[in-house]
Amino acid sequence: MAKKVIIIGGGVAGLSSAIYLQKNGYQTIVLEKNSTLGGACIGWERKGCYIDGCIHWLVGANPKSPTYKLWEEVGALSNDVEIFNQEDFCVLDFADGKKFTMWTDLERLEKDLIAFAPEDQKQIKKFCRLVKRFEKINAPTEKPTDLMNLWDFLKIGFTMAGDYYHYGKACKVSCQDYSKKFKNPYLRKWIAEHMSANYNLMSFLYMYAHVTSKDGGIPIGGSVGLVERIKEKAVSLGAEIRVLAEVEKIDIENGVAKGVTLKNGESLQSDWIISTAPIEYTLKNLLNSKYSFKNFEFMFEDRKNYPIYTFTTAVFKVQGDGAKYPLSHRVFLSDAIKLEKEHGSVTFRNYSYDKTLKTPDGHFVVQATLSGDDEMYFWWKDIKEKGDYRAKKQEIAQKLLEIYLAKYPELDGKVEIIDTITPMTYERYLNGRNGSFQAFVHTSTGKAINKKGVIKGLKNFHLAGQWLLAGGGLPPAVITSRFTAQRICKADKIKFKSK
Ligand SMILES: Cc1cc2nc3c(=O)[nH]c(=O)nc-3n(C[C@H](O)[C@H](O)[C@H](O)COP(=O)(O)OP(=O)(O)OC[C@H]3O[C@@H](n4cnc5c(N)ncnc54)[C@H](O)[C@@H]3O)c2cc1C
Repeated sequence: MAKKVIIIGGGVAGLSSAIYLQKNGYQTIVLEKNSTLGGACIGWERKGCYIDGCIHWLVGANPKSPTYKLWEEVGALSNDVEIFNQEDFCVLDFADGKKFTMWTDLERLEKDLIAFAPEDQKQIKKFCRLVKRFEKINAPTEKPTDLMNLWDFLKIGFTMAGDYYHYGKACKVSCQDYSKKFKNPYLRKWIAEHMSANYNLMSFLYMYAHVTSKDGGIPIGGSVGLVERIKEKAVSLGAEIRVLAEVEKIDIENGVAKGVTLKNGESLQSDWIISTAPIEYTLKNLLNSKYSFKNFEFMFEDRKNYPIYTFTTAVFKVQGDGAKYPLSHRVFLSDAIKLEKEHGSVTFRNYSYDKTLKTPDGHFVVQATLSGDDEMYFWWKDIKEKGDYRAKKQEIAQKLLEIYLAKYPELDGKVEIIDTITPMTYERYLNGRNGSFQAFVHTSTGKAINKKGVIKGLKNFHLAGQWLLAGGGLPPAVITSRFTAQRICKADKIKFKSK
């Protein structure tokens, strides 16, 4: 009889884990607390408009990329899924009217930046060379290091040694420090703030290199389309999927995970349990703080080196032709907008590139986003506790709308605020640390996380999902699921199959 695996969480990691294990003869059941699947990879509808809650760029969108193979294995991407590759990744629009575009064509970027800041010609060329180098750098996807043999390590060493040197170096430099290499104040601002000053340079280069190499496109059909395809694959392989099935605790007997108890009191038993819920939540709530996940928990106490990433977003329904406006427009402000700190810029993202996403005729959706860290979460939490949450959300959304209209006065009277999302939304929806939807930010002073997901003293249990790999995001969700399935197969002496 097939061994049974309970998977906590119906996000990309949970559904992908189910697929890999079903392919290897296990009977899986996915338990998701929300009424919809996808976790942080979501989308929803308001006032006739689809609001995409996730994908801005997907590593592995290019069939030549090693991560593409994994997306194919879980049914997320195939020849039938069209990918939108942006040309203008972001328009940087400074308060005094100066502007330049982050092109995804590196030659065009280099030419434009040199024209914009000739004093930085040498540094701009160096930067573009560095991005080019990063186009070849990918996280290992085939198997985890603990399952590699000497030959696997040698192969990585021979092919990637030079690149990993640059990778390691870029991990130790913050975007803020790197920006000081440029003389031009606008280029400095761009590099320091594109992700946020404490991100390491590697994160910035990795992101940009994937879009310049056309391996960071956006699947048409949005985040919900991607999750729907993964779900269909899981179901077609025989996985059982339950929504509104919140797990309250993991049941353990003599150091062996035996099953779970749901919030509704129901108990389920299995041979293996995987939790893809955020790690801090799993340890503190589902395991009742009884187990320690070595070399991970210290990060919970160190917000400076291990901050989280979160958003405050207002969503607009706009009447007009979206094709006339930039896809991603970062507007720097002369009067900062104050939340937990003075935010000197807002990013407006226009979703008109995907005609399959539901929007009433003649309209498009724009999201206005302020990004923040743990402090943004604590600021909103305090407001919520004092009872002013709804009014504050409206006030911030209104301010963001005013900034948008000041930029595009022709849209006055044609824009409606249809939703507001804060770190409190993410906390409620995902059980994520301090309203985060991604794993810890990879700073220049923090260690790179690459964890196995095994807890000492607790048998038949694995952690999987984005929190096991530095920076988080969708690729770590699918990669860690594959790795976890490989480890379970190894423990059960099953030769792992990915097809
Ligand atoms: C606005 C936004 C933009 C993003 N942009 C990108 C992007 O451009 N590219 C990219 O790669 N990534 C992006 N991400 C991040 C990406 O969505 C996540 O990294 C990824 O979806 C994480 O997947 P996961 O399955 O590991 O975790 P999650 O999605 O967090 O899944 C965990 C699941 O566990 C469930 N759960 C929690 N507790 C319980 C419980 N007690 N019982 C049952 N279920 C439970 C949660 O509801 C959730 O569904 C973005 C996310 C957001 C929100």
